[in-house]
Amino acid sequence: MRIKVELLEKKVESPDGSIRARCPACAAEGGDSKGEHLMVFANGKFGCAVHPGDREHRKRIFALVGVGQRRPAPYYPRVRLTVKPKPGWKD
Ligand SMILES: [Zn+2]
Repeated sequence: MRIKVELLEKKVESPDGSIRARCPACAAEGGDSKGEHLMVFANGKFGCAVHPGDREHRKRIFALVGVGQRRPAPYYPRVRLTVKPKPGWKD
């Protein structure tokens, strides 16, 4: 799970590579007008300072500004291959 930082509002980048920004989930409810709830760390982890450990809140953040990795797996039909050994396959 990654955050698409270019979608964030009121971004402030820190020298260590982390980004503080307006939490999109809080913003959706009219909150975080100062833009200081969301932290996105250099390793891609993110969290809302007001709702730490709130999985639903994180999901909402991800739904609003997240990218990648949560695509449904492509469906491969199971095909049973019948391979006839070629003549002379066994020594
Ligand atoms: Zn938030």
